[in-house]
Amino acid sequence: MYVIIGQGAAGTAAANTLRQLDGKKAITVITKETDYFYSRVDLPDIIAGYYPPSAAMLQTKERFAELGISCRMGEMVTAIIPEKKTVRLAGGECLEYEKLLVATGSVPVLPPITGLEAKGVYTLWTMTQAGAIIRAAAGARTAVVIGAGLIGVKTALALAARGLAVTLVEKLPRVLPRQVDAAAGAIVARRIAEKGVAVMTGAVVEGIATEDGAIVGVKVSGQMLACDLAVVAVGVRPEAELARQAGLEVRRGIVVDRFLQTSRPDIYAAGDVAEAPDFSGGYSVPARWPVAVEQGQVAASNMAGRKAAYLPVPAMNAVEVAGLPLISVGDVEGEPGDDILVSAQGDNYKKLVIRDKIVCGVLCIGDIRQAGVLGGLVIRQAEVRAAGRLLAPEFGFADLLAM
Ligand SMILES: Cc1cc2nc3c(=O)[nH]c(=O)nc-3n(C[C@H](O)[C@H](O)[C@H](O)COP(=O)(O)OP(=O)(O)OC[C@H]3O[C@@H](n4cnc5c(N)ncnc54)[C@H](O)[C@@H]3O)c2cc1C
Repeated sequence: MYVIIGQGAAGTAAANTLRQLDGKKAITVITKETDYFYSRVDLPDIIAGYYPPSAAMLQTKERFAELGISCRMGEMVTAIIPEKKTVRLAGGECLEYEKLLVATGSVPVLPPITGLEAKGVYTLWTMTQAGAIIRAAAGARTAVVIGAGLIGVKTALALAARGLAVTLVEKLPRVLPRQVDAAAGAIVARRIAEKGVAVMTGAVVEGIATEDGAIVGVKVSGQMLACDLAVVAVGVRPEAELARQAGLEVRRGIVVDRFLQTSRPDIYAAGDVAEAPDFSGGYSVPARWPVAVEQGQVAASNMAGRKAAYLPVPAMNAVEVAGLPLISVGDVEGEPGDDILVSAQGDNYKKLVIRDKIVCGVLCIGDIRQAGVLGGLVIRQAEVRAAGRLLAPEFGFADLLAM
């Protein structure tokens, strides 16, 4: 039997691929969530009220049944026992596996501050948490979102769209610190502010103020921001504890090779929980949806006995924030000694980072028409001779032949 822990992007992609490759063998997917596979990426839009929760559903109970994939919903795996090739569930039941995939994803990280247990303080990773935020927002007028990464920014905008007065607080000097540089961060922050969100950067959250066990405010850099609810979005970490306890090699995530095999035979890992070979020749946890899907498919191929390798791609993000399209590929910050090319006009911003004649980072905001061709240069690692031409408005695929 194939056993998969986790029914997110990686776990579901793996289950479906296994069924394609192996029509017979039993497949069991275990998840502690009770909602069948849905898009986490859509949770902020659901909080905003743009769509009902059903719109985020990606694979129904009926479809899993049609594929002959058995789903253990609302069940928690408490141990992996590699010596016996079994996993133990919270109720004590043990399931045997021939091949196991650990696709347990991420969990939100909590900062070391007081008051996090108060009523009205939330994190956002699951549909259940989105539902709780929606219910709390219905009776609230003010909110503070802690952390201006992608999830924090999207959540702040979603709460503002529901009519709440929202303050977004970020410790670092800019919003979206992992996706953009300082100049682009300023453009994004301005657009967020135009949507009614107050943005505080370089601001340190010192604690949550409570009364009778419920939040009444967030203390930020010595100032008290009164609020009815707070969402903590300071980052996520791989949910790798099960693997660590089972003796698998774990650094930040579960260490896998390019076949997604862990340090133990017959155990694979994929998605946000896996620390895999990356584009720069090292290892990292990409924590992105498309990578989770691809790794799930590759792991499944290997579990089914068809050798397949995961081909790492540069860090990539394609999102829309406050109506502003944003695409970043590779290292958009750059290092001392890099050539940096920038073109900026209003909310349109384009930046290229060139290291030893190789384009290693591209950031396009607003006008993203050339993001495909420029991002392709990062992926191909091609040497560029006439770098100045790359920022020309007419630069396109035809120019690549001349490079
Ligand atoms: C609000 C939001 C916005 C996002 N926006 C983007 C975006 O724009 N672009 C992008 O690329 N990515 C985005 N992401 C990240 C993306 O959703 C993740 O990279 C992706 O979901 C990872 O998939 P996964 O299958 O590895 O893990 P997950 O989706 O986390 O699934 C893991 C599953 O395993 C279950 N599980 C864990 N431990 C156990 C256990 N012991 N027993 C049973 N079940 C267990 C969990 O409950 C969960 O259901 C966003 C995420 C959020 C929350």
